[in-house]
Amino acid sequence: MARDPRHDVLFEPLHIGPKVLRNRFYQVPHCTGFGVQKPGAQARYRATKAEGGWAAVCTEYCAVSPDSDETPFISARLWDDDDLCALALMCEEVHSHGALAGVELHHSGAHCPRREYRLPAVAPSQLASEYLLVTPKAMELDDIRHVQDNWAAAARRAREAGFDIVYVYGAHSYLPMQFLSPFYNHRTDSYGGSFENRARFWLELLEVTREAVDGECAVVSRIAVDALGPYGVELDEGLAFVRAADHLVDLWDVNVGSAQEWSKDSGASRFFRQGHQLEWTGRVREATAKPIVGVSRLTDPDQMAEIVRSGVWDVIGAARPSIADPFLPTKIEEGRLDEIRECIGCNICIPKSDPGGNIGCTQNATAGEEFRRGWHPERFEPAANRERDVLVVGAGPAGMECAIVLGKRGFRRVHLVDAEAEIGGIMRWIPRLPGRGEWARVLNWRRIQLDKLPNVEVITGSRLDAEGVLTYGAEIVVVATGAFWSPTGLDRETHEPVEGADSSLPHVLTPEQIMVEGKVPPGERVVVYDGDGYFMAPDLAEKLAAEGFRVDFVTSFHDVAPFCYETLEDAFLRRRLHDVGVAMHKSVILERIAPGIAAGRDEYDEPFELEADAAVLVTQRVSDDALYHELRLDEERLETERIEAVYRIGDCVAPQLIADAIFDGHRLAREIDEPNPAVPLPYRRERIVLAQTAGAGA
Ligand code: ADP
Ligand code: SF4
Repeated sequence: MARDPRHDVLFEPLHIGPKVLRNRFYQVPHCTGFGVQKPGAQARYRATKAEGGWAAVCTEYCAVSPDSDETPFISARLWDDDDLCALALMCEEVHSHGALAGVELHHSGAHCPRREYRLPAVAPSQLASEYLLVTPKAMELDDIRHVQDNWAAAARRAREAGFDIVYVYGAHSYLPMQFLSPFYNHRTDSYGGSFENRARFWLELLEVTREAVDGECAVVSRIAVDALGPYGVELDEGLAFVRAADHLVDLWDVNVGSAQEWSKDSGASRFFRQGHQLEWTGRVREATAKPIVGVSRLTDPDQMAEIVRSGVWDVIGAARPSIADPFLPTKIEEGRLDEIRECIGCNICIPKSDPGGNIGCTQNATAGEEFRRGWHPERFEPAANRERDVLVVGAGPAGMECAIVLGKRGFRRVHLVDAEAEIGGIMRWIPRLPGRGEWARVLNWRRIQLDKLPNVEVITGSRLDAEGVLTYGAEIVVVATGAFWSPTGLDRETHEPVEGADSSLPHVLTPEQIMVEGKVPPGERVVVYDGDGYFMAPDLAEKLAAEGFRVDFVTSFHDVAPFCYETLEDAFLRRRLHDVGVAMHKSVILERIAPGIAAGRDEYDEPFELEADAAVLVTQRVSDDALYHELRLDEERLETERIEAVYRIGDCVAPQLIADAIFDGHRLAREIDEPNPAVPLPYRRERIVLAQTAGAGA
């Protein structure tokens, strides 16, 4: 298939300083958890995107010196020549696919956690970081020179490592922005006060960086042109800085938000539409004729082409869309639009990356596995046992993913069977929760790919029992029957059901009963009890409030939906619940439900009671594993029926994130021709191995 001429503009080359972008697709810096600790993973991860057509791929934030030690988070580093060697591997691999390599030089100033370094953080003024327990040293002039010298040294190392693009990272309220912003900068010397003085540090950084790279690298600056809150600058000063620094910059990388409110930059789809940043970053053209790259979770090539054609930005930046589909540019170029695995804006990649140590993605099971497991997002080895027939029972995220990978590995026949009339499992109904519409892409992409695989047959409306599976005629069986929300309020705090909780009663409800069966709470007053901590309980509370119920949100956690802090949704969820009139009660353990009442105790062991006509239980899920165990019970019968193996994947093993259920299904299919596919193969680990010394341990 050929490229749609409407998208031609996305494939025009562009000069940025001394370098040329081969097209308009640019992977902006984003965290991975690899840094310099895992050079192989870093290199292969970025190189896979280079192979997938991105014109440039960048590292995550890359600290210039130990006083920007991000521990416990994992950043890249260019502190010394060993770091240089680690990142040179990335440059080499990226170049082998014809893309430019970029490094985001960084100093976090007041926001530096320094768990490894231990000495004080440095910042323009002694003002405590608003989001970490750090009160920095106010920088003396010597400190300013020291940071600038370190920056120059890191830039020289970057050039030597082979980077084509060197950043002065000023976004997200890190050190350059801390100097520019009166919120952080209370200085009275030549680096504080007037705009000109506040801009001085950043301008000098750009100068030393230009000098250090000596015309061999493009110099890029990232700026949050509007912090959309107090932690930075507003648009007028953002644009003023672009004007002031324009002669020193080859490409402007523009965004919004701050470290504290990064949620407004990496906006979750629950609250932000694609392209939401254009309202602010679309104004940067007023201040510069230099190339501009912007981001906003863009996956639609028509919208991308329109942005470039209109001249608002010249280059389409992407972090999340490039994680979800490293081959997005290639697929647009080849007109394979229905194969684009679109990001769903769930932000699970965030807890998986710099705090988690290994990036992962809901949509793309191979993200972060390129090096350690050798998985390629678009290439699948023919399976050694592909002459077998495989039956996959359950077409939820895990079953669908497994069937697709088995199909791509060339199995003669794969049957994907589901009890319901539609495939999708939990993804049939989760996208109907408030704001979760974009999550339907998990199912939509997989449905399209399943349709394309002639060796995969999808059968719906067929609930298989053990006998049905045994006599199906498949040699390999994969059980992917999922999980269900506990109907008795089995809870993490007590490891027991809630007294009186029985979802067969009219006043006790589970999420599936509400969303799938259409069960309606009796009366007006509903308690939503959250022992889960993620999105399900707040989403249901909002839905019920919108339907006119008087909703009390009761959680056993100290915060509302604490896991949503990691997905950058928590503050918006709380505000939304507040705005729709949901009362929130924290640190309460529910002990008893009866018609008219929900009772328990608070964190001080004081009794807690609410009038409630109904209770919705969002405590924990339970694996639907009965079929699997029944099949495994009778090994002799399996042999008689010539069933070689019965595996299980996804929530049927243990209830887990959608991302992890998909990963599990993918993993089994990748390894199904190994001697024991039930046990994952070990993955390559990158670590320091000490040479064995004679007599050690004697
Ligand atoms: P996961 O997240 O692990 O993929 P889901 O709960 O989303 O799990 O999906 C499980 C799917 O399995 C559901 O669509 C359900 O209808 C289907 N299913 C469960 N039991 C059977 C069965 N015995 N036969 C066929 N399909 C089943
Ligand atoms: Fe997008 Fe979610 Fe994947 Fe992150 S984890 S790239 S938000 S689909």
